[in-house]
Amino acid sequence: MRTFDAVIAGGGLIGCAIALELSRNGLKVAVFDGQEPGREASWASAGILSPAPENPAMITMVPLGKASLELYPEFVGRVEELSGIPTGYRDRGTLAALFSRQAQQELSTVIALYHGLGLRAEPLSAADARELEPALSEDLEAAVFRPDEASVDNRALTAALVRAATQSGVRIFPGQRVEAVWREGGRCCGVLAGGEKTAARHTIVAAGCFSSRIRGVEQYAPTEPAKGQMVALRCATARIERVLWSKRIYLVPRNDGRILAGATVERAGFDKSVTAGGVRANLDGAIELVPALASAEIAESWAGLRPDSPDHMPILGPTDLEGLVIATGHFRSGVLLTPVTARLVGEYIMEKTLSFDWERFTPMRFRAARQTAPAPGR
Ligand SMILES: Cc1cc2nc3c(=O)[nH]c(=O)nc-3n(C[C@H](O)[C@H](O)[C@H](O)COP(=O)(O)OP(=O)(O)OC[C@H]3O[C@@H](n4cnc5c(N)ncnc54)[C@H](O)[C@@H]3O)c2cc1C
Repeated sequence: MRTFDAVIAGGGLIGCAIALELSRNGLKVAVFDGQEPGREASWASAGILSPAPENPAMITMVPLGKASLELYPEFVGRVEELSGIPTGYRDRGTLAALFSRQAQQELSTVIALYHGLGLRAEPLSAADARELEPALSEDLEAAVFRPDEASVDNRALTAALVRAATQSGVRIFPGQRVEAVWREGGRCCGVLAGGEKTAARHTIVAAGCFSSRIRGVEQYAPTEPAKGQMVALRCATARIERVLWSKRIYLVPRNDGRILAGATVERAGFDKSVTAGGVRANLDGAIELVPALASAEIAESWAGLRPDSPDHMPILGPTDLEGLVIATGHFRSGVLLTPVTARLVGEYIMEKTLSFDWERFTPMRFRAARQTAPAPGR
């Protein structure tokens, strides 16, 4: 039987970053992935690193996002050094464009909200915004600049993490789907993958939206897929330096000159097809924000599945099954939250003091909800 100190189900950004962290702490680590690691949400993402809440429900996550953003420069530095692969990290800030007639009023509300949350944000007139980003639409009324935000090429980061983890001694098993966690008495003793048991003192489930499909995990991680479609554009006449937002779209510049536009949020099960409606929504939003993109070449289009949870919050921490830790449900912010997730899981497993109180994100919250739910028929 294969034996490790820690076994991880899922080799996306979250699983690989945890693997690297544990391996750096001297643990013998294995990562199982049902396919080539890093080919799901971590590949499909836009790579925006923004802790700013998109809606009031996301405010609870801001401190975790801020903590992770602060870790990013050191995190990518280490991964790049270990792997020799550049990650396309760009710390040039985000510019959110406002188009409405009430833009001035909206601007002061949004700036007050950000400042209240401890996020740096500067109000900009339309002219000032266009000076920073000349490709922006002339219909713009005002903008908010969030200078601390960044982006990363998530595909490059995933490849770099896989290599860094391997170089640090992590054993990666591609094409080996974890079917179940291996439970004996009140303990989790490892996983069942490819019909074989693998023993480990610590089992970490980081299988993205697929986590709920692993036997024995569903009650802790009732994840669901939230489909997102993206397009990548190439345009000689539209250059952007920063991540741009509007209410309809975001645009993310890559170092290779491509501009990513996304993303839809759809409930379509595990379907990953690219649809006419999805592409149209992305292109309409992109051209409204940067009109010159009307002449862009469509370089690529794709769809991916975000790991969503019932309350749209991450699912992080130990369970009541000793030895089982969950790290998933990062929904729209998993790239941002990768360094802090790896650090917290590492601190927990190495029995160090946790640098952030993660109780709000406990996997036990869903079990508690089930136990207090009224019986069917009542
Ligand atoms: C279109 C889109 C845009 C996004 N944009 C952003 C953004 O700008 N910023 C941001 O922070 N986040 C963004 N996200 C969200 C982010 O991509 C995810 O939250 C993050 O990648 C989740 O990483 P993960 O490792 O948990 O999951 P995944 O990357 O999905 O990895 C899970 C892995 O587990 C494997 N697996 C599945 N089942 C099993 C099993 N039974 N056994 C073993 N392995 C298994 C899969 O093959 C996969 O490799 C976006 C997502 C999408 C789809």
